[in-house]
Amino acid sequence: MSSLPQLVCATANPGKVAEITRILAGLVELLPRPLDVADVVEDAGTLAGNARLKARAICASTGLPAVSDDTGLFVDALDGAPGVDAAYYAGAQASYVQNRAKLLADLAGVHDRRAEFRTVVMVVWPDGDELSVEGVCVGTIATGEIGDRGFGYDPVFIPADGDGRTFSELDDSEKNAISHRGRAFKALVAALRERATIQPG
Ligand code: IMP
Repeated sequence: MSSLPQLVCATANPGKVAEITRILAGLVELLPRPLDVADVVEDAGTLAGNARLKARAICASTGLPAVSDDTGLFVDALDGAPGVDAAYYAGAQASYVQNRAKLLADLAGVHDRRAEFRTVVMVVWPDGDELSVEGVCVGTIATGEIGDRGFGYDPVFIPADGDGRTFSELDDSEKNAISHRGRAFKALVAALRERATIQPG
């Protein structure tokens, strides 16, 4: 049995859980999201607000500290759209394909293609205490789809810290090293370590 502090993961997405487990290895024992907790309506309007809603719901139903993440894509030329509601850009039931098609259509003929992904990661403890950190990945929106890996906007996002390939052309470890989510969870590791130093035990 592990003696590491436990956090229940608010996401059930297997790819994300695997990535988060790797980053937190040796520091936190990540417990799976219980199957019987209903999906949370993410209507807070901010990344931190949505992350808080998800972490609080899991913390309330398990009595254990919970960790959640929420990501948005902010495009300069679109005044920050799709933003917090990146999952629903082309409509409430929109697929990744439809969201990407709308983004490319909205940017047709637009020269300034700067954009950034932002992720907020939040931990909520049963006593109401919380900790939040952010990870950012700046880049540009391509003029078409390139690559076949990943999900969401990966085929149209070219990270500035890369070599010109889209997220969809990178393998998992290449993407995690520079991605918004990878950076946010690494910031969480630093914040939890600092907290453990300040509050031993
Ligand atoms: P979530 O908060 O992680 O569920 O992300 C919200 C939406 O942002 C997703 O539905 C995707 O469309 C988009 N998104 C989040 N992270 C990524 C990423 O790493 N690559 C591409 N799209 C992403």
